[in-house]
Amino acid sequence: MESNFTTKDTYLKHFSPRTYLETYYTFGPSISKESEILMHNLRKLSETFSLGRVKGDLLIDIGTGPTIYQLLSACESFKEIVVTDYTDQNREEVIQWLKKEPGAFDWSSVVKYVCELEGDREKWAEKEEKLRERVKQVLKCDVTQAQPLGPASLPQADCLLTAYCLEAACKDLPTYQQALKNLNSLLKPGGFLVLICALKSNYYMMGNERFSCLPLTQEEIEASLEKAGFMSEQIDVFPLNFSRTYTYNEGILYLVGRKLNTSMGIQN
Ligand code: SAH
Repeated sequence: MESNFTTKDTYLKHFSPRTYLETYYTFGPSISKESEILMHNLRKLSETFSLGRVKGDLLIDIGTGPTIYQLLSACESFKEIVVTDYTDQNREEVIQWLKKEPGAFDWSSVVKYVCELEGDREKWAEKEEKLRERVKQVLKCDVTQAQPLGPASLPQADCLLTAYCLEAACKDLPTYQQALKNLNSLLKPGGFLVLICALKSNYYMMGNERFSCLPLTQEEIEASLEKAGFMSEQIDVFPLNFSRTYTYNEGILYLVGRKLNTSMGIQN
């Protein structure tokens, strides 16, 4: 049976970084559901990275998209950050911001919010510079491949971060489980996985275009992680949904897990 799930080719042809950013990451004076979810994720990320539990040399963000919000706390705890995405125009959007090119998306109100969480709103320009300095590479990535980063040779990371990517990239549960196994190989034994997922979501809109999502429950995610050689250490489900005009979902899952130390963990 042919699946209608959004293909990789559709991402290349139809994913609009600007429409995505304007829909989901406008951080205006009126608090939308999208902003509430963003603020929640920023608080969780700040807790994870600022308390000193999750730190190290290398963090790889998988499916970065056109966004950098997810790295604002992590850049204080990791010396090097590598960002990755399948879609060329998303990597270009991030590079525009990194290089401070004219017309780059303005993340400053989000950066100020994170600085406020971390104790000093006035340090936002410094944080932007720190993040720009810490991002060492912007790479193509395909989570459905055994080597998601292709021929790029990187040391195994101390932390993998991935927000809203796997449910967009994987058409069914076996593909999702395999993608987690593929990612496992990029991480050191004992290394951390930070995962953000819109639960039970089956689509998200970008302008008039509908992009598929794999609807996942917390239990399916936990079981998939276990099969892929991870253990979950912290799971929170935030009972907030995106605006119904943009997305269907039933809460937002925030999870911190670790790659198992033993060789018993995974079989490919
Ligand atoms: N992390 C961002 C973007 C999520 S949107 C955020 O938090 O908002 C989903 C992202 O998954 C898109 O950027 C898309 O290009 C990427 N993606 C889709 N299929 C992929 C694949 N097979 N491998 C890697 N990334 C993929």
